[in-house]
Amino acid sequence: MAFDYDLFVIGGGSGGVRAARVAAQGGARVALAEEDRYGGTCVIRGCVPKKLMVYASEFVDTVEDARAFGWDIAPGAFDWAGFRTRLHAELDRLEGVYRKLLSGNGVETFDMRAKLADAHTVELADGTRKSARHILLAAGGWPVKPGIKGEDLAITSNEVFHLDHLPESMLIVGGGYIACEFACILNGLGVKVTQYYRGAQILRGFDDEARGLVAEEMQQRGVELHLGTNVLEMSRDDASGGVLVKSTNGDERVFDKVMFATGRAPNTAGLGLEDIGVELGRNGEVMVDTYSQSTVPSIHAIGDVTDRVNLTPVAIRDGMAFVETIFGGNPTPVDHALIPTAIFTQPEIGTVGLSEEAASAQEPIEVYCTSFKPMQQAFAGRGDRALMKLIVSRENRKVLGCHIVAPGAGEMIQMAGIAVKMGATKEDFDRTVAVHPTMSEEIVTMKVPVRTG
Ligand code: NDP
Repeated sequence: MAFDYDLFVIGGGSGGVRAARVAAQGGARVALAEEDRYGGTCVIRGCVPKKLMVYASEFVDTVEDARAFGWDIAPGAFDWAGFRTRLHAELDRLEGVYRKLLSGNGVETFDMRAKLADAHTVELADGTRKSARHILLAAGGWPVKPGIKGEDLAITSNEVFHLDHLPESMLIVGGGYIACEFACILNGLGVKVTQYYRGAQILRGFDDEARGLVAEEMQQRGVELHLGTNVLEMSRDDASGGVLVKSTNGDERVFDKVMFATGRAPNTAGLGLEDIGVELGRNGEVMVDTYSQSTVPSIHAIGDVTDRVNLTPVAIRDGMAFVETIFGGNPTPVDHALIPTAIFTQPEIGTVGLSEEAASAQEPIEVYCTSFKPMQQAFAGRGDRALMKLIVSRENRKVLGCHIVAPGAGEMIQMAGIAVKMGATKEDFDRTVAVHPTMSEEIVTMKVPVRTG
């Protein structure tokens, strides 16, 4: 049977665009449908605008520190409207780059929603049908609210980049990446931030010591963090125009804005997947094997729509592995082991491998850890502490986990991630000469374990 295309990709985010482009470069006839903006969550409403907001929010500290270093400057006011205009101009530019990557490589694009009609047929929103030998689902995910009374009054991370003005006060609900990053960003931009998290400590799943330090530092910088606390219901407060929030700790408080960062769900609703036999999991995710193949052989899925590891570089890797498997004749499973990652809180966390808790549940370990005041911040009179931690296997001496809490931890963990991925032992770290004076030199100078487990 002759197909219109060799590959039809649904979703123009990081994963979908990469797979489409690389497949087309290899000679495949490729089409891609995107109903929203090209670039997906990462470029349009995630990593990129978030990181630009992180930069904006950190200048408060920079100005204060500069004074301590002898500069005669004073903090000014933050111009949200001016920053937002530049932010969106940058996102428009990046969206243009993504579109060009596709057109420049001969990928045909359809700026509309697409759903599946059968195992080899996509139906576009205008009713046209296109056939393809392979279909790749890369439709991403979307923020979800918890389903409580009055939740329509709250925004999510999607809307935070479009606020008309910065609120005076904001409640952020959740304790994951997004909640913690935005608590720090908005606090830095001068918003009075309160954060409710239902559990005992934010950033569940990360190393306990790292989570504890970040929570402490966030509070010291002004975030009012309430653990073991959740929202019961919300209503409009007519007097102030804000939102009245009743919470499980008995409080009733008014906030100018409320933001839910209570997780994300795969974008699979209304795609016609179950009708044609594509199995979905409990969270609506496409169930795939290690080659990203769904239960329908001609349909693969990558990125957040599979709810495996919801990170842009992972979606890109999964897309590359898919193209290599299907169009390169070289079956390549996804590799989700030892993924380094950063949380852009203030201070940042950079982490790769197992937490102390997960490692000690797995095997006997040694823990090397140091906590100190970095030179730059100490000189400026700030109390900030940094943390460097290695988890080492007692059996084979391999570094099982590396956790860094420090300014720039995201940059540091990329490098440490290479060593850990290569299977470096503690002794490999030890025989590496320190770069002095830096914060990261501590990672190669820890001589004695602080404990064993
Ligand atoms: P997460 O799954 O990381 O966190 C969701 C948070 O909301 C958790 O603290 C969870 O609590 C809480 N929660 C869930 N349901 C409820 C509820 N009904 N009521 C109250 N609280 C609730 O999701 P995020 O939205 O923060 O981020 C989504 C994904 O995006 C991340 O997992 C990550 O992969 C990616 N991401 C990565 C970033 C980076 O690399 N820097 C930045 C931002 C996002 P509990 O812990 O108790 O389940």
